[in-house]
Amino acid sequence: MEKINLLGSTIGELENLMLALGEPKYRGRQLFKWFYCLRQSDFKKMSDLPQRVQQKLAKGYIFIGLSVAKKSQSIDGTQKFLFTLHDGKYIETVLIPDKDKATVCVSSQIGCPLTCGFCATGQMGFMRNLTAGEIIGQLLYLRDLYGDNAFENIVFMGMGEPLLNHDNMIFSIRIISSEIGLSLSAKKITVSTIGIIPQIYKLADSGLKVNLAISLHAATDDKRLCLMPKIKAYPLRDLMEAAKYFARARKRRVTFEYILFDGFNDTIDDVKNLSNLIKGVPCKINLLAYNPIQGSPYRRPSEEKVNEFGKLLYPRVPAVTIRKSRGGDIEAACGQLAGKFVKYDKRSDK
Ligand code: SF4
Repeated sequence: MEKINLLGSTIGELENLMLALGEPKYRGRQLFKWFYCLRQSDFKKMSDLPQRVQQKLAKGYIFIGLSVAKKSQSIDGTQKFLFTLHDGKYIETVLIPDKDKATVCVSSQIGCPLTCGFCATGQMGFMRNLTAGEIIGQLLYLRDLYGDNAFENIVFMGMGEPLLNHDNMIFSIRIISSEIGLSLSAKKITVSTIGIIPQIYKLADSGLKVNLAISLHAATDDKRLCLMPKIKAYPLRDLMEAAKYFARARKRRVTFEYILFDGFNDTIDDVKNLSNLIKGVPCKINLLAYNPIQGSPYRRPSEEKVNEFGKLLYPRVPAVTIRKSRGGDIEAACGQLAGKFVKYDKRSDK
């Protein structure tokens, strides 16, 4: 009989497992702590579990992480990991160092159903959602490799639209932020979405103190639809209401990601439209020059153009950060992976 892999199991699920095995519920918490906090997957070494429990577990269960098929490193220190999953599919995870801390960019789906024209993942088609275990597995691999300080921030900006895999994303965030899990504050986690409005409300109401980044990339519905053809159901006016709701619920600003495409969304009219659009939304804006992918009709603007756009925009909005792409030489730059280099902010709570 094939053993069941417990990777990604929540406290509740492990408690239920223990009850099903005829053991007290609290043993589930102990098991959870061994897996995620103490990083022990050998049941025999779980010293506070009686031998009887260890044996029951060993009979039908295992805890196995992801295996890496390929690792690449950029000249700027960014590392990309290609993981093989149990069904032979692949996902990517990117580790972006920045001075003494690092950010990990995790994938939430294999491919993506949203087919955004500028995005490499969008061109792959959609295969399936990742399980909570496959999301957590990306992080555990890095912790095993580099220790507890492998990363300080997590961004759901890798392959896929995380809000279309809402439940598994939430399960994984609960494991990450649990004190007996990965013990990383939810405040260090950013969920990036192209604007799946109902799920933004759901996330705001979840009680999880995560940050929200919305990929805007255009300030009018027409232009946005050119870039992201599948978001017709989520017009900008409603999206701004959802962003306000999230910011109020979390008492924290929302980040708007705005990739600049040469000649498409980088004019003075775009500056005006963008500043009008976000009026009244507690927010900051991240600007990023597009990293062209093969077959894309969009071009990268010059650094001067990006800086000019930032300078024109800043007086009209609360905060602007201009970011530079990282890991471009290893194709880790999905257009959203970024490191800071210029920041303008009228407030201090960044
Ligand atoms: S940009 Fe995001 S939502 Fe759009 S296709 Fe790429 S991964 Fe999917």
